Amino acid sequence: MSAVPVEHVDELQAYADAVAGCTRCRLAQGRTQVVFGAGNAHAELMFVGEAPGFHEDKLGLPFVGQAGKLLEKLLAGIGMTRAEVYITNTVMCRPPGNRDPQPDELEACEPHLFRKIELIEPKIIATLGNFATKLLSGRPLGITKVHGQEQETTLGGRKVMLYPLYHPAAALYTPAMLKILESDFARLPELLGRSLAPIAAAEPELTLVGSRTPAEQLGLF
Ligand code: URA
Repeated sequence: MSAVPVEHVDELQAYADAVAGCTRCRLAQGRTQVVFGAGNAHAELMFVGEAPGFHEDKLGLPFVGQAGKLLEKLLAGIGMTRAEVYITNTVMCRPPGNRDPQPDELEACEPHLFRKIELIEPKIIATLGNFATKLLSGRPLGITKVHGQEQETTLGGRKVMLYPLYHPAAALYTPAMLKILESDFARLPELLGRSLAPIAAAEPELTLVGSRTPAEQLGLF
């Protein structure tokens, strides 16, 4: 049996407790509570969605509405449950009326997302939809162009595989998109079994450097 690094579980919980009252951006004003993320604190597979919606804001958990049900169904299709993976969002607070998160809100929440990634140490980060994909890839390419194309990157000193997927909410009412999402999902077991190339010495790394966030380093905003 492999040893579970208990300290990471504790650290993740301590971090969740520390940011439960976060006021880094205006989303703090309208939220019921911070939706930190949920799942296995040492998951190999981490999902990053867009933002909490109505139900997530009320319950304090990510992906508990219709999109979440579809995510669970897709996971079941590859023999996994949500307890095995970690699920979070680009921003932890519900934007009013479910509007898109604004660049300054994404930037304010980015250190929280990077800290979660550092603590969880996932092997694969599946980005759900445009916001998470652009934020973590550091590239402006939209999800229609890049879905299903895995890309190795370095985050927090570790190699991680980014795997962009359509957002389940977008696939809910578009059967053609759902088919693509299902077939992209079907590759996850193979990708989880694949080992990552060692970090190349000269490769630029995205970490929190001084006061400059990775998004700033990339000139995303
Ligand atoms: N959509 C998201 O992007 N995140 C959630 O938590 C729920 C719906």
